[in-house]
Formats: sequence, C-alpha cells, structure tokens
Amino acid sequence: MESPTLAKPKESALRAAFPVLSRKVHGKPLVYLDNAATTLKPAAVLDAMDHYYRHGTANIHRGIHTLAEEATAAYEGARDRVAAFVRASSRGEILFTRGTTESINLVAQAWGRGALKPGDEILLTGMEHHANLVPWQLLRDATGAVLREIPVTEAGELDLGALPGLLGERTKLVAFPWVSNALGTVNPAAELVRLVRQHCGGKILVDGAQAVSHFPVDVGALDIDFLAFSGHKLYGPTGIGVLWGRESLLEAMPPWQGGGDMIKTVTFESASWNELPHKFEAGTPAIAEAIGLGAAVAFVEETGWETIRERENELRRYAEPLLGAVPGLRLLGAAGERAPVFSFNLPGVHPSDIGALLDTEGIAIRTGTHCTMPLHARFGLSASARASFAFYNTRHEADLLLQGLDKVLRLTR
Ligand code: PMP
Repeated sequence: MESPTLAKPKESALRAAFPVLSRKVHGKPLVYLDNAATTLKPAAVLDAMDHYYRHGTANIHRGIHTLAEEATAAYEGARDRVAAFVRASSRGEILFTRGTTESINLVAQAWGRGALKPGDEILLTGMEHHANLVPWQLLRDATGAVLREIPVTEAGELDLGALPGLLGERTKLVAFPWVSNALGTVNPAAELVRLVRQHCGGKILVDGAQAVSHFPVDVGALDIDFLAFSGHKLYGPTGIGVLWGRESLLEAMPPWQGGGDMIKTVTFESASWNELPHKFEAGTPAIAEAIGLGAAVAFVEETGWETIRERENELRRYAEPLLGAVPGLRLLGAAGERAPVFSFNLPGVHPSDIGALLDTEGIAIRTGTHCTMPLHARFGLSASARASFAFYNTRHEADLLLQGLDKVLRLTR
C-alpha cells in the first residue's frame, strides 16, 4: 500500500519516463492509443537491456566466468521479481516463454495431451483472443475433446447464468480472459472460479494478457491453476512472456520442448528432466528480454498501482461519454467493470479508414478484429476500430481523439 501522504506524481514526470512519447508523427505529437496491442517501454527497461548487451553479454546457467554469473543472476533475479509480482508460492512456478500465446500452447500441449480423452470438455468464452482458442482447437483435434463456450451478452459480459449448465464431470479445463482485449470487459474472475470449483474438478487457466498491466494479481488468492501473460503489454519488451502454473501440476507435466538446460542427465538413449522451472525452458532463452521484463515489473511497482489505477479509471470515465456522444458511434460492449479499452464503429466508415485518417493526425489506434473474430461475428461485425489507453495518456489526448473522429466524419460524409 502506498502512503496516502505521498504527493501524486506529476503527469509530465510519468510521461517523461517513456522516450517514444516525445516523437512526432506526420508533424503532430504522437497520441499513442494502441496500448492493448503493446504498451510503450520506459527508459528503465531499455537501459536494463542495453546494460546486459553492452556490459555483460553472456549465456546463462553454464559458464563460471564473471559475465556468465552476472547474466544468470540478472535473468534469475527477473524471475524472482515476476514471482513476487503475481504472488507465486515459489520461483519454480514462473516459466519464461515467448508470450501469452506460447504460454497457452505450452499448457495445451504439455498438460492437455496427457489429461484429455475423447469426449472430455474444454470450456472457453465467446470473447477469446485467438491465442486462447486456436491452441484448444488443435488439442481438440489431437485428443477428441470437445470445445464449449460461455456466451457473451449484448453488454459484452459473460453470461454467468449459463455457466452451471455448461459445467460437469466431463469439464477438464475452463479458460477465460480476465480482461477482454476487444471490449475492455473485466470479467469477474473470483466469481467465475468459485462457480467452476463448485460444479466441477476441471483446471482453470486465466489469460492475463490484458489484466496484469491494469491491476495487481494474486494467483494464490484467486485459486486458479495457470496464468498466462506477455511482457510487451506490461511495459516490457516483446519476445518474453510468463506462464505461472501451480507447482504440483507443473511437476506432473512432461516437458514440451527438448534441448539444453531442460535436462538433468542424457545418454544416447534417454534423458531425465531438470527441476522446475528449467524443465520447461529448453535452449538459450530470451535473456535480455527477461531482464527487461524484470525492469518493467520494477517500474510498475515504483509507479504504484494506486497511480496507475486512478489515472486509468479517470481516463475511462472521461473518454467513455465523449465517445458515446459522437453521432452514430457504436461502442462494443457496455460492461460495468472495464479497462480503458474502447472498440467502436462509425456509420458508413470502414474501420481501416478511421485508423488511416487518425494516423495523419498522429493518433495511433488499432483496426481490424483485434484477433477476436468470433466475438466480432457475435456482434455482427467484420471489423472495428479500437482506442486503448494506458496510465500515461491524458485527457487532452482523449480530446484529440474526439477531434480526430470529428474530422473523419466530416471527410467521409
Ligand atoms: N490474449 C489476449 C487477451 C491478448 O490481448 C493478446 C495480445 N493481443 C494475447 C492473448 C496474445 O498475446 P501475445 O501476442 O503477446 O502472445
């Protein structure tokens, strides 16, 4: 908890931490509203990665020379930081992967292939990112399991009333996004977990890609089995992500990739596995990126959840009615609890034209399906435009977005 006597950090100081925010696009100051795709990186992250390459490049776990020991300490130190960040019960529960996508594929392959039989059920939601859908389709095809879906209401929320009827003894896994990358909906994770535990013995995987940058996470308190997230949506670099898994499950799972570092002993005929977490980290990992992620976690902790949450809530409360007042604008979803993520359509304007015209004003948004084709189909859409805010955005930038949309409407009328 932060001391209430601490002065609020100045907006300009918060923004100064992000070098990219000082650049111009088409002669206009950059207005970066594509944070759900990837967040900007603070100088502290860039410096940590630069330091590793400039002063201490070495491979980890293998060498006894100074540089190798320093690199190993930095890489494993990043793991400790991440473990504390999500309140893991041990550092062995933190597996470094390439990102959320790889974390989910790891569970689907290493856990799913052994755990599922024909007719077993995997329960997902109608608001999945393709990363939390396609790996389960592949697993279904390999095992004969069946995919089922929690429907999404018109308000963009999960239909929890349907949940008990979808759960049963065949349910082996329930996976859901904590925060929808398209709707911004914050799903009631604790309530979902309670209902799942009440009705079945299935495992629970949470796609935390859009959650971990918005609020603190405690995997033990939430009583889940797996949490997947990406470094690059948490102010860290691309190419690094995390799978947190309950230790007993990770212990029981076979490795999913073979190679150096994940073994204890090898003969020509066979091999035995290294202990956690190394059993799941074959080959040279993304060392600089893990160090960068450790720096990103430290940056978030130094900035403080109170600051992040207060600013993001304020931006959401400010921007939502402004967008709602744009003539004809259709906002996807209207969940009571949402992150500052807004997908929308304008009448008679293709989303990619919205994105291209806003870009000429220096405003970066995302257009397309945001890797949620089934969700867009649910709302009868083939695409949308999405503006997503982070704590370093400002009310002024929300005003600029509105002015930009005004211009889009004038130019396309
Ligand atoms: N799930 C959600 C909810 C996401 O928003 C994303 C990224 N857009 C992913 C999964 C996949 O993350 P990554 O591409 O970093 O693996």
